Amino acid sequence: MTGAWIANADCRGVDPIFWFPEIGISRRHAINICNSCPVMWECRVYSLSYRLSHGAYWLDGIWGGLTPHDRLNKTKCKELLDEALSMIEKNSERINV
Ligand code: SF4
Repeated sequence: MTGAWIANADCRGVDPIFWFPEIGISRRHAINICNSCPVMWECRVYSLSYRLSHGAYWLDGIWGGLTPHDRLNKTKCKELLDEALSMIEKNSERINV
């Protein structure tokens, strides 16, 4: 992971095994944590940008509440990336008002 947002990640200190449903663990616990994480949108931008710039070599695991399956379709990834960038911008406008 890279970026200052990581310091505020709710998954810090939680067993990372929950973020890898590929190995047979329920995704629900990780997704619940992601959905209330203060840096969920930043985390999504990171993983979706990585997916779009690295072709087939995308990240494993759950990032920003999205599974590898959620990041499979590149067109959908672009839509989700636009949404995440828009949410970060809206949140920053709200903070700066
Ligand atoms: S959104 Fe999920 S994976 Fe991303 S930093 Fe937050 S808790 Fe961790």
